[in-house]
Amino acid sequence: MTPLRIDILTTFPEVFSADPPAFLGASIPARARRAGLVEWRAFNLRDHTRDKHQKTDDRPFGGGPGMVMTCQPVWEAVHAVEAIDPRPATRILLTPQGRPLRQGLVEELAIKPRLLLIAGHYEGIDERVVERLKPQEVSIGDYVLSGGEAAALVLMDAVIRLLPGALGHEGSASEDSFSMLPGESIRLLDCPHYTKPREWMGMAVPGVLLSGDHGEIARWRLDQRRARTRERRPDLLNP
Ligand code: SAM
Repeated sequence: MTPLRIDILTTFPEVFSADPPAFLGASIPARARRAGLVEWRAFNLRDHTRDKHQKTDDRPFGGGPGMVMTCQPVWEAVHAVEAIDPRPATRILLTPQGRPLRQGLVEELAIKPRLLLIAGHYEGIDERVVERLKPQEVSIGDYVLSGGEAAALVLMDAVIRLLPGALGHEGSASEDSFSMLPGESIRLLDCPHYTKPREWMGMAVPGVLLSGDHGEIARWRLDQRRARTRERRPDLLNP
């Protein structure tokens, strides 16, 4: 299988290092990369500037605080990086104003051949280059980060763990919170999990899990999923 290719445009490429102790150098992303399921490369937007100070930002027109990332380095970096590989890239701009990153969107992205992630900084990117590049705009939540790098890492981790073979246990991603179980029309939260010992601080593991009756266990887990979703995330019941 050809690995999913992820290119990241950023002013902080070191954030995406594949070597430990960097975030992507550990755990499932690192293993998926070693297994040839995914490859990623971060490109420095500063390498696509034309001024000798490698400036990627400037003062905002109209005044006000902060800086705005200029069009030209973003425009040139997108085209230079896209030209490296003939496969079409799904362009994604990380922004708090984008489509919320939910599991359905993660599933859509996990079957693409190639993603191009653009991480903003400061006040964001000059709107004109966004209009021209027409990226999908994606937000990881209703809060503001100082830069798009952390959002890109979140998106990458969520996508990579869905690649076939990325998780040790094949079934586990399809039963996680927000995944659509076979026969269900809504996305439920996961059920609670327990492991050894059978009793801890006077608390016993639910007896059904020790019964060995797989049908009963599956029914209990589904009931737990539904009850938890009703209690904690009733909004998921009416998508
Ligand atoms: N002025 C912008 C606004 O209020 O919409 C916020 C800019 S933020 C300080 C700088 C950069 O961080 C953004 O360009 C974006 O790339 C990234 N960012 C911040 N919050 C984010 C979020 N919730 N999801 C995705 N990216 C985010």
